Amino acid sequence: MPLAGVLGWPVAHSRSPAMHEAAYRALGLRDWRYQRLPAPPELFTEIVRALPGAGFVGANVTIPPKEAALALADAATPRARAIGAANTLTFTPAGIEADNTDAPGLIAALPHPPAGRSALVLGAGGSARAVVWALLDAGAREVMVWNRTPARAERLCAEIGGRVVESAEPADLLVNCTSVGLDDPAATFKALPLSADALDEYSVAVDLVYGEAPTRLLDAARNAGLEVVSGSEVLVRQGAEGFRRWTGHPAPLGAFRAAAGVR
Ligand code: NAP
Repeated sequence: MPLAGVLGWPVAHSRSPAMHEAAYRALGLRDWRYQRLPAPPELFTEIVRALPGAGFVGANVTIPPKEAALALADAATPRARAIGAANTLTFTPAGIEADNTDAPGLIAALPHPPAGRSALVLGAGGSARAVVWALLDAGAREVMVWNRTPARAERLCAEIGGRVVESAEPADLLVNCTSVGLDDPAATFKALPLSADALDEYSVAVDLVYGEAPTRLLDAARNAGLEVVSGSEVLVRQGAEGFRRWTGHPAPLGAFRAAAGVR
């Protein structure tokens, strides 16, 4: 029985088990199972190293151990190394291979290829690193990075590329990579350098934050006439990459979306 799973601490909130199990059913992969794998940081390496022997072909990694996942791998894709974090591990006879599928997941979720376009990225944490790398790799003309703590944006741009900005500048694409809007939607336009009535300075808005309802940012962006991409859609697309690698089948996106609650 081939096994896959999601590692994290906590991991109870993860939608990946529902997505992957729905995809197995949709494709008739009756033997496959996908499990939650609670992994306290101090046991993370030990747990990951035990997985191949227990029948696992791969694992997704959610916060916080994405850096640890890269560090323990025997091989890593260039993008995982450049971003400095891995969210997808594949167990092969040659060892543990690490990849970062947040980057191709973002590009796949966009309504238009970013080549030649400009982008404003909000945030400088792990997901912002993947997004900035992905946009530059896909040929974006300019990537601006704003962060509440500017020193972190400086470091991101020095290591990956992009230009630090102190306030929101107009761009084709707006990507929220902060966690703002998750716990307190009403704080969205206080915490971010945006106002709801100036969102028409952008054409497309992506909010990596996902929850039960569309975020305050995406609601306002849709009202302002922008094309919007939800965090759930990005989650679906990053998960599809690992699914294809492990099973050899393209992910059934409809099943993934229904299980992830994409609206
Ligand atoms: P992270 O590494 O912890 O970074 C958090 C970012 O949010 C930092 O830039 C931080 O700024 C900023 N931030 C937090 N609270 C803030 C506030 N009150 N005001 C302004 N900025 C604030 O987290 P991450 O891994 O990048 O994840 C960020 C969000 O994206 C999370 O909600 C996560 O669930 C989501 N995500 C979604 C996907 C997907 O597939 N949809 C993938 C990855 C992540 P400072 O540097 O100033 O602290």
